[in-house]
Amino acid sequence: MTIETTLVLVKPDGVRRGLAGEVVSRFERRGYDLRGARLLKISRALAAEHYAEHKGKPFYPDLVSFITSGPVLALAVRGENAILGIRSLMGATNPADSLPGTIRGDLATELAENIVHGSDSRASAKRELGLFFPDGLV
Ligand code: UDP
Ligand code: MG
Repeated sequence: MTIETTLVLVKPDGVRRGLAGEVVSRFERRGYDLRGARLLKISRALAAEHYAEHKGKPFYPDLVSFITSGPVLALAVRGENAILGIRSLMGATNPADSLPGTIRGDLATELAENIVHGSDSRASAKRELGLFFPDGLV
């Protein structure tokens, strides 16, 4: 058993389109536990920290503008191999490549507006959970 906790964001497009419940429901049905949830508007400073790995890339300015454009739902999701498991429920980064059955494959068509973020490694999960749940998780 490898129980992990990962950070998910339902991005502004997902919240705006009323898909937050759908996303949460998919995680719950798969068998993961919700350990934390926060609806917040991300500041530019937090966006810069969260997406630090992408600083300098051509899409970075639009990425920061987009992620700060409206409320996001930040979730701490826990379960067996949750980091990889959540990434596979999300589908490929570009919805053009995401398989039907995945969140992005079923609900998105655009790379920039692909509904969800999920941590991609244990180190990312630890860092990102610290950014969005600085008081720790219950
Ligand atoms: N993104 C983009 N253009 C690109 C690559 C990425 O707009 O050429 C956006 C996309 O919304 C993606 C986010 O930047 O979800 C972060 O990119 P990453 O490669 O980390 O993908 P993810 O981990 O979200 O699948
Ligand atoms: Mg990523």
